[in-house]
Amino acid sequence: MKLQHYVNGQWVEIDDMNLIPVLNPANGKEIAQVPMASKEVVHHAIEVAKKAQKSWALVPAPKRADYLYAIGQKLKERKEQLAQILTAEMGKVIEEARGEVQEGIDMAFYMAGEGRRMFGQTTPSELPNKFAMSVRSPIGVVGLITPWNFPIAIATWKSFPALVAGNAVIWKPSTETPMMAYELAKIFDEVGIPPGVANVVFGSGNDVGTTLIEHPDVKVISFTGSTETGSKVAELGGKHLKKVSLEMGGKNAIIVLEDADLDLAVEGILWSALGTAGQRCTACSRVIVHADVKEQVEQRLLAAMSELKLGDGADEEVSIGPVIHRAALHKIHSYTQQGLNQGARLLTGGKIADDGALADGSYYEPTLFTDVAWDSILAQEEIFGPVISLITVHSLQEAIEVNNSVKYGLSSSIFTQDINRVFEAQRDLDTGIVYVNAGTTGAEIHLPFGGTKGTGNGHRDSGVQALDVYTEWKSVYIDYSGKLQRAQIDTE
Ligand code: NAD
Repeated sequence: MKLQHYVNGQWVEIDDMNLIPVLNPANGKEIAQVPMASKEVVHHAIEVAKKAQKSWALVPAPKRADYLYAIGQKLKERKEQLAQILTAEMGKVIEEARGEVQEGIDMAFYMAGEGRRMFGQTTPSELPNKFAMSVRSPIGVVGLITPWNFPIAIATWKSFPALVAGNAVIWKPSTETPMMAYELAKIFDEVGIPPGVANVVFGSGNDVGTTLIEHPDVKVISFTGSTETGSKVAELGGKHLKKVSLEMGGKNAIIVLEDADLDLAVEGILWSALGTAGQRCTACSRVIVHADVKEQVEQRLLAAMSELKLGDGADEEVSIGPVIHRAALHKIHSYTQQGLNQGARLLTGGKIADDGALADGSYYEPTLFTDVAWDSILAQEEIFGPVISLITVHSLQEAIEVNNSVKYGLSSSIFTQDINRVFEAQRDLDTGIVYVNAGTTGAEIHLPFGGTKGTGNGHRDSGVQALDVYTEWKSVYIDYSGKLQRAQIDTE
């Protein structure tokens, strides 16, 4: 199947010279071909989006929201079909793929509701016969740049609030996972969203991404991806005075204190660390465990990990799917080798899995290290694979210090039965998301999503806070006194 860009409500004719294959990471087979847009295609998309946005901004927000309700309905009807495509292009197990599509459905209905809220403030004026209020205004054309690990959910976190707020969007998905973008573009088309309001353009970050960031008519860039790329996006965006929202990497930890329910903690660790083969931005990559329960946690994790089945995520029996591609596989392996060199003790895994049919895909054995030093490479770098590192501590304070010692600040979790320590931890853990007696993953779409330090630049996806990225605040003063009243001066 050859995918096509979706611009101005039309499928753009493609040049066969500029197609690259999309491979199923479970077996290396080609499942589609994705076109790489030329600069002309991107410029055309920006031009039509700019024009379309002017009319879209004048459509009442509850009417704009009607398109989101229709999109949500289509996503709901096609949930299973979309989940199957998602697993084929990205590799996550089918149950998680269904969950990801559900996230898009939830986001559609939630943001559609914002069409009838989008609250500003009314507030008294300091002067008589004067009315004061603040309202949200759309900004214009928004460029969305997204990663491969959540091929549809992240796009819905960004495009739905942008659209309901009255912006036009141009979405550049990852070239690893363009099929979900193509499916969402089909849905935009089917619900009849006005031409030019929602556009999808495929291509590399260096070409399409950079063109969007540099173009004067793209006013906002909303990016999710690695901290390394995010920093380049921020630099270029800063040069062009763009509003840039960045959601980047993570190095998330679960703290297990000595009074924790260990069965629950181990379940939480497995789900958060090995789900999506460890390729979630919120993946638990470190377990900060109290010395008193360290050996028990090691034994329970080892026992549970020996039961896991590696394979094609489309198979309902499989617990861990492939990683995205061979390059990722080799990057993960180089991290585990460096961990060994730095003295971490390997309890299981640490190998590329290539027995039988696994050899055709990109699989890494679920890996468990213990006695990992808090400042070693395994404990500090985002590995993005099924690798768990146990770090031993002796107190809550030490656990919090270790948690906060990394350059990222996305998600953290603590398992304990002690309510006082729960409150202390939620205050002092320096991440944007904190879980208590649950793993590091599982964000709900109506709460803000994002992180501190190297994870973000102060903006949030999801929640009503996402609207802050895609709107400007306008303060409106209406003086009905019939005379010139000067604020701060005529106040006696
Ligand atoms: P990536 O940074 O390689 O790519 C992300 C996107 O940026 C892609 O669409 C890519 O084509 C584009 N890009 C690359 N270079 C660019 C450039 N110079 N200018 C503009 N765009 C450019 O990330 P990835 O490998 O696709 O995704 C994995 C990363 O994403 C991990 O670090 C993960 O933690 C992070 N992530 C973060 C969140 C979050 O919300 N914080 C969510 C999911 C993933």
